[in-house]
Amino acid sequence: MIRKISEASDIPKDELDIRLLYRTLGVFDNMAMFARHKVVPVKWVLEVWHHPLKEMRKGVETLRKNAKQRNESSVAEPWPQLWILIDKAESYHSTLPCCPLDNSWRGRIRRLAAPSRWRRLRTRSGAAT
Ligand SMILES: [Zn+2]
Repeated sequence: MIRKISEASDIPKDELDIRLLYRTLGVFDNMAMFARHKVVPVKWVLEVWHHPLKEMRKGVETLRKNAKQRNESSVAEPWPQLWILIDKAESYHSTLPCCPLDNSWRGRIRRLAAPSRWRRLRTRSGAAT
Protein backbone atom coordinates (compact mmCIF):
# COMPACT_ATOMS: atom_id res chain seq x y z
CA MET A 1 0.00 0.00 0.00
CA ILE A 2 2.84 2.41 0.89
CA ARG A 3 4.58 1.84 -2.44
CA LYS A 4 1.49 2.99 -4.35
CA ILE A 5 1.50 6.40 -2.65
CA SER A 6 3.36 9.12 -4.52
CA GLU A 7 1.20 12.16 -3.79
CA ALA A 8 -1.28 13.24 -1.12
CA SER A 9 -4.30 12.23 -3.26
CA ASP A 10 -3.04 8.60 -3.23
CA ILE A 11 -3.33 8.41 0.56
CA PRO A 12 -6.34 6.26 1.48
CA LYS A 13 -9.25 8.14 3.01
CA ASP A 14 -10.41 5.21 5.12
CA GLU A 15 -9.48 5.67 8.78
CA LEU A 16 -8.62 1.97 9.22
CA ASP A 17 -6.27 2.06 6.23
CA ILE A 18 -4.58 5.17 7.60
CA ARG A 19 -4.14 3.50 10.98
CA LEU A 20 -2.68 0.42 9.29
CA LEU A 21 -0.20 2.60 7.38
CA TYR A 22 0.87 4.49 10.51
CA ARG A 23 1.17 1.26 12.49
CA THR A 24 3.35 -0.24 9.75
CA LEU A 25 5.60 2.82 9.72
CA GLY A 26 5.76 2.66 13.52
CA VAL A 27 6.95 -0.95 13.33
CA PHE A 28 9.57 -0.01 10.73
CA ASP A 29 10.67 2.90 12.93
CA ASN A 30 11.10 0.45 15.83
CA MET A 31 13.09 -1.91 13.62
CA ALA A 32 15.28 1.04 12.60
CA MET A 33 15.85 1.85 16.28
CA PHE A 34 16.85 -1.75 17.07
CA ALA A 35 19.30 -1.65 14.16
CA ARG A 36 20.65 1.77 15.23
CA HIS A 37 21.32 0.53 18.76
CA LYS A 38 22.79 -2.72 17.40
CA VAL A 39 20.15 -4.93 19.04
CA VAL A 40 19.88 -6.43 15.57
CA PRO A 41 22.84 -6.17 13.16
CA VAL A 42 22.14 -3.39 10.60
CA LYS A 43 23.51 -5.67 7.90
CA TRP A 44 20.86 -8.33 8.64
CA VAL A 45 18.07 -5.74 8.51
CA LEU A 46 19.38 -4.28 5.26
CA GLU A 47 20.02 -7.69 3.73
CA VAL A 48 16.32 -8.55 4.08
CA TRP A 49 14.71 -5.12 3.70
CA HIS A 50 16.90 -3.04 1.36
CA HIS A 51 14.56 -3.34 -1.64
CA PRO A 52 11.25 -2.79 0.21
CA LEU A 53 12.81 0.19 2.08
CA LYS A 54 13.99 1.78 -1.19
CA GLU A 55 10.62 1.19 -2.82
CA MET A 56 8.63 2.74 0.03
CA ARG A 57 10.67 5.97 0.24
CA LYS A 58 8.34 8.11 -1.90
CA GLY A 59 5.26 6.83 -0.07
CA VAL A 60 6.78 7.45 3.36
CA GLU A 61 7.82 10.97 2.32
CA THR A 62 4.27 11.71 1.16
CA LEU A 63 2.76 10.31 4.36
CA ARG A 64 5.22 12.28 6.49
CA LYS A 65 4.45 15.54 4.70
CA ASN A 66 0.73 14.88 5.01
CA ALA A 67 0.94 14.01 8.72
CA LYS A 68 2.88 17.23 9.38
CA GLN A 69 0.42 19.35 7.41
CA ARG A 70 -2.53 17.83 9.26
CA ASN A 71 -0.79 18.47 12.58
CA GLU A 72 -1.81 15.06 13.84
CA SER A 73 0.62 14.97 16.71
CA SER A 74 3.19 17.02 18.56
CA VAL A 75 5.97 15.13 16.78
CA ALA A 76 8.05 17.53 14.67
CA GLU A 77 9.38 14.82 12.40
CA PRO A 78 7.45 11.54 12.24
CA TRP A 79 9.36 8.22 12.16
CA PRO A 80 12.78 9.83 12.63
CA GLN A 81 14.79 6.61 12.85
CA LEU A 82 13.22 5.12 9.75
CA TRP A 83 14.85 7.85 7.63
CA ILE A 84 18.31 6.82 8.73
CA LEU A 85 17.54 3.23 7.72
CA ILE A 86 16.02 4.25 4.36
CA ASP A 87 19.14 6.33 3.60
CA LYS A 88 21.31 3.32 4.39
CA ALA A 89 19.13 1.08 2.19
CA GLU A 90 19.59 3.48 -0.76
CA SER A 91 23.30 2.75 -0.93
CA TYR A 92 23.14 -0.87 0.24
CA HIS A 93 24.21 -3.48 -2.27
CA SER A 94 23.69 -7.13 -1.46
CA THR A 95 25.93 -9.89 -2.76
CA LEU A 96 22.76 -12.01 -3.12
CA PRO A 97 21.19 -12.29 -6.59
CA CYS A 98 18.42 -9.76 -5.71
CA CYS A 99 20.82 -6.93 -6.65
CA PRO A 100 22.48 -6.57 -10.08
CA LEU A 101 26.18 -7.42 -10.22
CA ASP A 102 28.10 -4.71 -8.38
CA ASN A 103 30.77 -3.42 -10.74
CA SER A 104 32.01 -0.69 -8.45
CA TRP A 105 35.56 -1.01 -7.17
CA ARG A 106 34.21 -2.30 -3.86
CA GLY A 107 32.12 -5.01 -5.56
CA ARG A 108 35.04 -6.09 -7.73
CA ILE A 109 37.37 -6.29 -4.73
CA ARG A 110 34.77 -8.37 -2.86
CA ARG A 111 34.55 -10.81 -5.75
CA LEU A 112 38.34 -10.94 -6.10
CA ALA A 113 38.71 -11.54 -2.37
CA ALA A 114 36.25 -14.46 -2.31
CA PRO A 115 38.41 -17.09 -4.08
CA SER A 116 41.46 -16.25 -1.95
CA ARG A 117 39.37 -16.70 1.21
CA TRP A 118 38.39 -20.12 -0.06
CA ARG A 119 41.99 -20.93 -0.92
CA ARG A 120 43.08 -19.96 2.60
CA LEU A 121 40.36 -22.17 4.12
CA ARG A 122 41.40 -25.13 1.98
CA THR A 123 45.05 -24.69 2.88
CA ARG A 124 44.22 -24.53 6.56
CA SER A 125 42.03 -27.65 6.53
CA GLY A 126 44.65 -29.36 4.35
CA ALA A 127 47.35 -28.62 6.92
CA ALA A 128 45.21 -30.04 9.72
CA THR A 129 44.83 -33.47 8.09
ZN1 LIG B 1 19.22 -6.55 -3.46
